[in-house]
Amino acid sequence: MKAFLELLNVTKHFKVTSGLLGLKSDLVRAVDGVNLTVAKGETLGLVGESGCGKSTLAKCIMGLESVTSGEVVFQNQSIKTWDEKKLRQRIQMVFQDPYSSLNPRQKIGSIIREGLDIHSIGTKEERKEKVNELLGLVGLRPEHGARYPHEFSGGQRQRIAVARTLALSPQLIVCDEPVSALDVSVQAQVIRMLKDLQQQFNLTYVFISHDLSVVSHISDRVAVMYLGRIMELSSSEALFASPKHPYTEALLSAVLPPDPNNQPERIALEGDLPSPMNPPTGCPFHPRCPKAFEKCPNARPELVEIEPGIKVACWLYS
Ligand code: SF4
Repeated sequence: MKAFLELLNVTKHFKVTSGLLGLKSDLVRAVDGVNLTVAKGETLGLVGESGCGKSTLAKCIMGLESVTSGEVVFQNQSIKTWDEKKLRQRIQMVFQDPYSSLNPRQKIGSIIREGLDIHSIGTKEERKEKVNELLGLVGLRPEHGARYPHEFSGGQRQRIAVARTLALSPQLIVCDEPVSALDVSVQAQVIRMLKDLQQQFNLTYVFISHDLSVVSHISDRVAVMYLGRIMELSSSEALFASPKHPYTEALLSAVLPPDPNNQPERIALEGDLPSPMNPPTGCPFHPRCPKAFEKCPNARPELVEIEPGIKVACWLYS
């Protein structure tokens, strides 16, 4: 697979200070050695519980957070050496909350046009035409450009947010929980729209969600993340048909199956996600894993290929 985006051992640690006069300092290991590749036109789903490092990883991909170590390579070039303006044009982001990601005092047309204005793309007339075209692409009408965000529903606002990201003709879009704030019926419409736009413009997506069933509807491959590390990476089909990692099994057991007579036994995860400030030794999942054995707390399993296209970080497969 030819990589369009490569994450090479990407690590992001934050220093946090606490105690009297801030003299005590700890390290939050938000992202801890992630290796991933994404091909052009592909959708890579990134799934995991809140606090597992998905959003920090998204910011590292965007260049909004500098990595502590490792490298993000986009189109064969480290993003550190990309011209920032050009990188912004090629990589865009859709945020979770369409209510707060749109300026309530700005009209929709002006919100969508902003990127074109900043990058001085086209004449005034051409930008106006482009805004109308983008509104049409996301299922809205030209007259909607004269309205304010509060006049739209949540689903329409997320459509507007998508139109804004498309204004600069990006090649990679990082979608950070783009449908989590929407009703289930609206989620399906927005996902369908994202898929249509992907086909039309050969877009590449990194699609982040805590919800496996949402990820299953759009992703070609899925990476399951836990405490800043990838636990399983596989094609969407293989992962949902036969999850390998005990954490993936637990997540999937909580998803409603298409066939209600074929519900796998629910695997209840004990306790909360441990703090990334003090991650467990060995396999980070061992305190909650129903299949843990002696080796698990003592040594960290690496992500290894166990079948063509399927990678797992678990001692059960070594
Ligand atoms: Fe569970 Fe051990 Fe596998 Fe970790 S390495 S997922 S604790 S069986």
